[in-house]
This record gives sequence, structure tokens and C-alpha cells, in this order.
Amino acid sequence: MSDLTKLTLAGARDALKKKDITSAELTGAYIAEVESGAPLNAYVTVTAEKAMEMAKASDAKLAKGEGGALEGLPLGIKDLFCTKDVLTTASSHILDGFHPPYESTVTANLWRDGAVLLGKLNNDEFAMGSSNETSYYGPVVNPWRRKGDDTKLVPGGSSGGSSAAVAAKLCLAATATDTGGSIRQPAAFTGTVGIKPTYGRCSRWGIVAFASSLDQAGPIARDVRDAAIMLRSMAGHDEKDTTSVDRPVPDYEAALGQGVKGLKVGIPKEYRVDGMPAEIDALWSRGIEWLKAAGAEIKEVSLPHTKYALPTYYIVAPAECSSNLARYDGVRYGLRVEGRDITDMYEKTRAAGFGAEVRRRVLMGTYVLSAGYYDAYYLKAQKVRTLIARDFATVFADVDVLLTPTAPSAAFAIGEKTDDPLSMYLNDVFTVPVNLAGLPGISVPAGLSSDGLPLGLQLIGRTFDEETLLKAAYAVEQAADFKAAPEAWWKA
Ligand code: GLN
Repeated sequence: MSDLTKLTLAGARDALKKKDITSAELTGAYIAEVESGAPLNAYVTVTAEKAMEMAKASDAKLAKGEGGALEGLPLGIKDLFCTKDVLTTASSHILDGFHPPYESTVTANLWRDGAVLLGKLNNDEFAMGSSNETSYYGPVVNPWRRKGDDTKLVPGGSSGGSSAAVAAKLCLAATATDTGGSIRQPAAFTGTVGIKPTYGRCSRWGIVAFASSLDQAGPIARDVRDAAIMLRSMAGHDEKDTTSVDRPVPDYEAALGQGVKGLKVGIPKEYRVDGMPAEIDALWSRGIEWLKAAGAEIKEVSLPHTKYALPTYYIVAPAECSSNLARYDGVRYGLRVEGRDITDMYEKTRAAGFGAEVRRRVLMGTYVLSAGYYDAYYLKAQKVRTLIARDFATVFADVDVLLTPTAPSAAFAIGEKTDDPLSMYLNDVFTVPVNLAGLPGISVPAGLSSDGLPLGLQLIGRTFDEETLLKAAYAVEQAADFKAAPEAWWKA
């Protein structure tokens, strides 16, 4: 049985088409893995019965030689995506009992293509975090451990349920979202591949909003090919999201293996930050050598406003979050705590329903948007955001992709940074600029740290050029030949 879960998404797809396996067998094997994976806390809701129904429907189609691009393939869905009649909480107490009467466009696209829903994956509350420790449902545990050390590590965040579930083979692939790094950083911490597409590539409709001008959906998968297959199904124009862009969705899988001969790869010198561990720097140098050996041309480039990206993000994102989260008032969704009058009810509900990190963001956001500070903080941040986007536009006149580390460290211990929000925010130093500029970015596992943990390299591409990004990522993947996997200690 468990051999079935060793197949990649592409492998399982091909085996189903050839009728070597059935979706009911595959889905059954995953449900067993999800059950034994409970110590990882990756799922907040398991939909085993629904999964088996969907699998049987897929088998009926496959038997007739029909079915979509993901027919019969069991996936995990980040609990930020609304799933019709299936509990959706954004891992927040305030959404207790919320069963959306509608389906997000991205998940609807996956079901259209035949995918099977295994359940909803844990995440940082409202996707605010870098470690999946802010979830109302408790932290997710990284399936990876340091060599000879059983300290529990974080799987990255906010899509920590997605990254842990893919790394521990509790689903074939997962959906995730990325506002400042939440697809790429957890992928780097778990030896998986995560791509955040261009802003507007996937519809945001039906995804619980955090910071609307930054949020994008994307997949976390076992390898670059699987990520390409997932993205093709997730992406596409949607009339219900005016920021989704009306451009045809390419066959991303077809872009793989085209080689990178002549590709111009930029190395941004500002990403060589103080205090970066030597092994991250060494990994980056290896990545450069791999791409050079594959025929790419390497150029040093400059993104001079990089150092302003984190402070800019921590004004823009909280500002948008404070506005987006105003809707949770005890009237329309989930939790209600009764009060003396309606104002008291709002206050009690929001005080009980939001965790500490979410409250911190709402406070920061309300502050930077308030009459006296709007120009000094919010407007200034928007101007700097434009300069950051302009830096990228300038370098992309000369290069096709950029290569950087994904995160400044490997996975850290649960609890290690919880009392230090600034050091937590530093996790996103390499990923946040990409969201501010709306560009696509991907993280590929590229090696192990000295204590045996996965490390990722990030590639950043031009707007809507996910094909070049995936092609370059595939070349890095081939050269890195990353075969390591976590030991299944959670089954013991
Ligand atoms: N870690 C960042 C934050 O907490 C990014 C989160 C995300 O991308 N959703 O805001």
C-alpha cells in the first residue's frame, strides 16, 4: 500500500491513465498515511469519506478513458481556500464552524480537472507567520529533524501544513498561498518545491484574504514537474476577481527540459546579507556553478532598494489586513461572543477570536492608516514599493531570471522565535520583495545543511514568465539531484 504514496503526482497520473492503479487504491493509501501522520498536525480537517466518493467517480471516468489533467489524484488544500460545505477556518478561532456556501475558484479548477480532496491543511492564522505556530489548532511539526537530534522543528509558514504534508507524503501535492513568502519559505524548510506565480495568474476569489495586493495562490509539490502540472490547473482568468489577468495558461510541463543554454541569470548583490550562514552562501555559489555548467550566462545585478522591502511589507501587509479582517465581527461568520450591546459583542468576539499575531497586525495596520500617520507610513511605503518594483524591471531588461537563496536559515525549532517577532519577520528577507513587485518566484530544494536539514534556492522571473522560471528551476533540480527524505519517525 505505502508504495503507492511513493509515486510523484506525474507518476500517479500516468499509472492511473494506464490503469495500473485505481484512484480508490491511491486515495485509500493516502488516507492511511494521513491517519498515521496525525503527530505532524498537518491537517485540520480530514475529508476521508468525500475523498473516497470523489476517487470512485474518477475511477468511473478513467475506466471509460475519460477524465481531466488531475483525474483521481488526491490533494491537500490549505485551510485558507473556501471549500463548499467543508469547514474552512484559516486556522482561526474566529471562523469556528464556517462552512462556506461557495467554492474558491482555484479549488473549483482542481475539481474540474478531476482532483480528489483529502482534507484541509493547517496554516498560520490568516496566513500571518513564518513558522505555522500562530494557528489556533497548534503548530505543525516538520517531518525533518536535525541529525541525531529529536527537537521538533517548524515546517515554515504560513503554508506549513501544506509543506509538511507534501514532505511526509500525506498528499500528492497541496495548494498554498504566498503573501510575503508563505509558499517558498515552507518549501525550502521541507525539501519540497513551491511556486508563487505572478500576481493575477491565479484567482483570489474564495481565498480568505490577508493582504489583497500581495496574496497569490500556488502549489507546493514534490518536484518541479508536479508543481508545473498543479499550477496549470490552478491558474486562469476569473471574472469574479478583477485582478486576475486574462491571458492563456501555457502548458508549463512542456517548458521543462528545454535546457538553459544562453539563459541570462542575474545574481543580486544586495541579497548577500550580513550574518547569512556560510552554508547558505555556499549553496548559492553551487547554484550559480550548476546553471553556468548547464550553459547559462551569469551576471551580477543590483536591486538597490532591497533593504527597504521588509519594512515596506510590514506597513502594506498589516494595513490591508486590518481592512480585510474588519469583516469578522460576530455577525456574518463563525464565532460570536455575546455582549451588553452590539459594540461590546464586536469587541468581545474579536478579542476572543483573533490570536496574538493577528491582533498585532490589525493594530499596526490601523495605526499606519490612521489620519495622522497615513502619509508618513502608508503612502511612503507605497512609494518605496514602486521603487522596489522598478529595480526589478530594470534588471529584467538585462537578465531572464534571478537566483538567490530562499531563506536565510534552515528550519528552526518550535518555540525558538515565538517571542521575537522581528527575527521571525527576517525569514522573509529574500521572498518579500517578489510579492511587492508582483513577480513569480519558485523555491527548489538544493542541498542539506550541516545538520542534515533541507535548504532551498529561489529563482525569480519576469511577470507572467513562469515558463522560463520552471525551465530554470528544472535545471537546478537536475543538477542538485536532491534525493534525501525525512525518516518517518511519526509512525513509530
Ligand atoms: N511571513 C510573512 C508574514 O507573516 C508572509 C506570510 C505569507 O506569505 N502569507 O506576513
